[in-house]
Amino acid sequence: MPNVAHAAELIRAGKLVAFPTETVYGLGANALDPAAVERIFAAKGRPKTSPLIVHVDSIEMARGLAAAWPAAAETLARRYWPGPLTMVLPKRAEVPDIVTAGLPTVGLRMPAHPLALELIRAAGVPIAGPSANRFTELSPTAASHVPEALADYVLDGGPARVGIESTVISLAGQPMLLRPGVIPLPELEALIGPIRIAGAPGEGAHDSPGMHARHYRPRTPLVLLRDGEAPPAGKGVKAEMPADPREYAAALYEMLHRLDAEGLDWIAIDAPPDAPEWAGVLDRLRRAASSSVTPG
Ligand code: AMP
Ligand code: MG
Repeated sequence: MPNVAHAAELIRAGKLVAFPTETVYGLGANALDPAAVERIFAAKGRPKTSPLIVHVDSIEMARGLAAAWPAAAETLARRYWPGPLTMVLPKRAEVPDIVTAGLPTVGLRMPAHPLALELIRAAGVPIAGPSANRFTELSPTAASHVPEALADYVLDGGPARVGIESTVISLAGQPMLLRPGVIPLPELEALIGPIRIAGAPGEGAHDSPGMHARHYRPRTPLVLLRDGEAPPAGKGVKAEMPADPREYAAALYEMLHRLDAEGLDWIAIDAPPDAPEWAGVLDRLRRAASSSVTPG
């Protein structure tokens, strides 16, 4: 039985708890305790230049951490929270610099998993949490994927329903998409107007960790097959994936974790269409795919 009271006690004591969310499992610490947050970076081997998402249990808690709450934030929070949307907003001084990698902004999200919300409520503090994996490795979508010794306690909440990381949008200036997820961009734009895409020509460099080229990569080379391409020679498995983008996202990391443990030469997968509802999945596939194996 997942013991939320115990997990909340650990969070208050400055320890690390791996906790379920609807996107992926997080490695959580008290976001207001710099020493506890420091332990997240050490456990993951994550560079201190990568800001962490802070998980809240309410719009009220989010507003207590953000120095500004524009109308677009209210609109998106009301529509998508709890859910797989992270909003980057100017931070208040109470948010330690280590959480935001020294940036004047903080990424905020209210997760849609009941245990995550219970944990934040019971701990009584916002919880900083990147994915519960070592830096550059695959995100966990089940408690069994969380590497042993990463956390002081793993709260098991079953398989993650969404399966890829949250959509990240900055509202600190002109709205900008920092990381695609399962929410299609046109849906967001219908609510708050035009959104620029980070990394698009003219947007300049950014240091969002989700943009790291080697993020989300299995050890086994992943080969993306385009237009009915044949898989490579050698020992491998071509994964059959759902035709629906949300179901595909929910199955992706589970499939990669499972096949990555089989000692294959490659894992192959048909590339999905280049359409807005596939943007999150395509982004993760491009980062996970290896160029070290050529189809043959
Ligand atoms: P993860 O490693 O999955 O926790 O990814 C964290 C994501 O949150 C990154 O992709 C960033 O885009 C985003 N993020 C969190 N905080 C900030 C921030 N203050 N400024 C910009 N992006 C942020
Ligand atoms: Mg991650």
